[in-house]
Amino acid sequence: MKPVAEDPSSWQEVPLFDTLRQQAALRDELFAALAKVCDTGRYVLGPDCAELEKSLAAYCQVPHALGCASGSDALLLALMAYDIGPGDEVLMPSYTFFATAGAVWRLGAKPVFVDIDAITYNIDAAKIAAAVTPRTKAIIPVHLYGQCADMAAINAIARRHHIAVIEDACQAIGGEFDGRRAGCLGDVGCFSFYPTKNLGGIGDGGLMTCLDDNVAAKLRILRVHGERQRYHHQLVGFNSRLDSLQAAALNVKLPHLDRWTAQRATNAARYTELFSQAGLADCLGLPTASPRCRHVWNQYIVRVPGGQRDALREHLTTRKIGTQIYYPVPLHLQECFASLGIGPGSLPETERAAKETLALPIFPELTADEQRAVVAGVASFFGAHTSQRQAPPRPKFLDATTASNAKHR
Ligand SMILES: *Cc1c(COP(=O)(O)O)cnc(C)c1O
Repeated sequence: MKPVAEDPSSWQEVPLFDTLRQQAALRDELFAALAKVCDTGRYVLGPDCAELEKSLAAYCQVPHALGCASGSDALLLALMAYDIGPGDEVLMPSYTFFATAGAVWRLGAKPVFVDIDAITYNIDAAKIAAAVTPRTKAIIPVHLYGQCADMAAINAIARRHHIAVIEDACQAIGGEFDGRRAGCLGDVGCFSFYPTKNLGGIGDGGLMTCLDDNVAAKLRILRVHGERQRYHHQLVGFNSRLDSLQAAALNVKLPHLDRWTAQRATNAARYTELFSQAGLADCLGLPTASPRCRHVWNQYIVRVPGGQRDALREHLTTRKIGTQIYYPVPLHLQECFASLGIGPGSLPETERAAKETLALPIFPELTADEQRAVVAGVASFFGAHTSQRQAPPRPKFLDATTASNAKHR
């Protein structure tokens, strides 16, 4: 690693995301696919969407995959398929994106928040059983940052209490638990194609996966106002369809997803190595992959204890290094859920993660030089002396080992 020069003109700008780099390589193919949609006049659902659903059903190891307008809608439709409504309780983590709880709230049901595991940041399976009541109808494990929750433990509890399992897999397409893919691990899997997800569209989009034929049939009509047959409404659904333009773009991108995931894993392994070489592994809680999971690294999250997280972020921002805080306010402390009456201190690991975690750039096209700039920026925060240490040259064969380990995470 190069010594940190405190000369601002040498600071390398590193974005948190850069969707344009990915798009540049596919530009001609993407534009041709979009032009074809324009020319055929099939703008909503249609053949491009059917093709995507077929490919993603295979990719997620499920018989049914259904496009919809967003990951948020996928959650809402999944809950509607299980008739979740007023009087019902739905278990979920509080340390997640808002949509997980928003969907439950919009149906008049009550989100019941369970604390997270300090290492994986996923819902703590050991704390779920104590939160189950006779009103519990579903559980939404969120596969946060690209790593699946402990689905063996979660499914065991769900079976015992006859509650539905709705996977929020928005950050974990291609993720695996015990060799099985996210989306086939519960009753319904919910995915998002928001541009910063691992499979990102050129706008909003979402998908639901499921194993059961009856649930699939219900989801299929709920996304078109509950229509069984044109203008004959069996259920009250709403309009949540996938645009053909999004489906066409995603059909171009899907064949590259596994390569992009491997690049994310390589980047994660490289950070871990660079931070260790710089002697920073003790100042930062580095993310780990459970041996039971294929982690797809939607985010690379470090933990900065001792109240230094915000100062580190500011330090990196000055150096033009993009970072983000996911999620600064846990859901149980959000203003809109004040009526639940859950005060600070009730979910200690959730609240600690909200104060200590920081996301660093990890997108597939991130270069090794950019990663070195990020590590140098962090090193200069913790004391320039750590960053002055020259790392020994790395034998070639170790790079191969790291890459293959990364692939099998
Ligand atoms: C992105 C995301 C969603 C919502 O997806 P949208 O397509 O943006 O509506 C839901 N849950 C989690 C965990 C997410 O990361």
